[in-house]
Amino acid sequence: MKAEIITSGTELLLGEITDTNTPYIAGQLATLGIDLYYTSTVGDNLKRFTGVLKQAWERSDIIFITGGLGPTQGDITRIVIAGMLGENLAVDEGLKQEITTYFAGRGVEMPENNLRQATLIPSATPLRNASGTAPGWWVEKEGKIIVTMPGPPGEMQEMWQLQVLPRLKTSSDAIILSRTLKVWEFAEAKVDQLMSPYLSASNPTLAMYARQDGINLRITAKATTEAAARKMLLAREAEIRQIIGNKIWGVDSMTMEGEISRLLGAKKMTLAVSESFTGGMLAYSLSGDPDSPSFFKGGIILPVSPGETSAAIASARADAVRTQFKADIGMAIEGSYVTRGKRAGGRAFVAVHMASGAQTVTVDYPGKPPQVVRRTSNHALVYLMNLLK
Ligand code: ATP
Repeated sequence: MKAEIITSGTELLLGEITDTNTPYIAGQLATLGIDLYYTSTVGDNLKRFTGVLKQAWERSDIIFITGGLGPTQGDITRIVIAGMLGENLAVDEGLKQEITTYFAGRGVEMPENNLRQATLIPSATPLRNASGTAPGWWVEKEGKIIVTMPGPPGEMQEMWQLQVLPRLKTSSDAIILSRTLKVWEFAEAKVDQLMSPYLSASNPTLAMYARQDGINLRITAKATTEAAARKMLLAREAEIRQIIGNKIWGVDSMTMEGEISRLLGAKKMTLAVSESFTGGMLAYSLSGDPDSPSFFKGGIILPVSPGETSAAIASARADAVRTQFKADIGMAIEGSYVTRGKRAGGRAFVAVHMASGAQTVTVDYPGKPPQVVRRTSNHALVYLMNLLK
């Protein structure tokens, strides 16, 4: 299946807003194993939009359009599709009712213009918009598909997940499953090298992304049954774990702080932190989990003292903060910016004190302040996670 994306909106062409819908849909299609061949952006102009859509209809099997579903005259996506397919737009009573109810729920009378959003063509079925008034369309004709979604990224993504994705899955015979493995400590080039045979494989595919929480490796398997796809996924995961298993800290939507919260919760332990260098980032990460903040007893932030950091100072501070906050575990980060040759970076010492003993590790990351601080803080989180396992 050959896919194409069209984003519409004159603001996109004027550079007033950045198109984030295309990368979102492109990433989703890659996971699904659907080939994306073209993307384009067009303004709110009937002739040019129709031209772009005609070309897409000729060369692609499935076309995703975002934007232009609003109630104003400038929102022309429905008119363009109806015109290109030679079909008539008519108000759908069910949609009209839904939009009227939406306005009534807010205590406002529905403006007449919003009736445009209740229109359909015979080849279209509506896609519900859970957080706005503009329904999308799923159009099927002559073996081809056009999917329209609203422009606002939140609404578009919600419609994608709830309405489009399930239809895409049922419109192909294949079951597609994905699993993401999260790697910390290895640089992208190293992971690329270790994973190279899998990165060039076609099913399961392996995709690599550098994210704030490390390198994410996404395995995607396609099969005719869910059981077969899952088996392929797990077999590939096992192979990857044989190679870099000890660097994988999590999977799928897991977060570092969530994992620490889970581990500490299971052990009924509490934690306090002392930070110079990371300036509170560690405390921010650990105190931000609304579901289980109870393990976090508190923290202190200290100024960076260049040249005076050491593993011994970190260790003493981890011990002190543990006592001060009456926590089971005291963790300290001490560090400063250093220049090695032409490369700037950070050198930090992470210390962890608990009843079973004290540990320290030296952390060196190249880069500029915000990035180095985030990496050092994440390194400390993974270090603690491994000590708790
Ligand atoms: P509405 O029903 O809200 O009018 P719509 O489907 O008509 O939605 P547009 O009017 O085209 O969508 O865009 C509404 C807003 O959505 C834009 O002002 C912009 O903030 C955002 N938006 C639209 N397209 C994109 C895009 N491709 N990437 C990111 N944001 C977008």
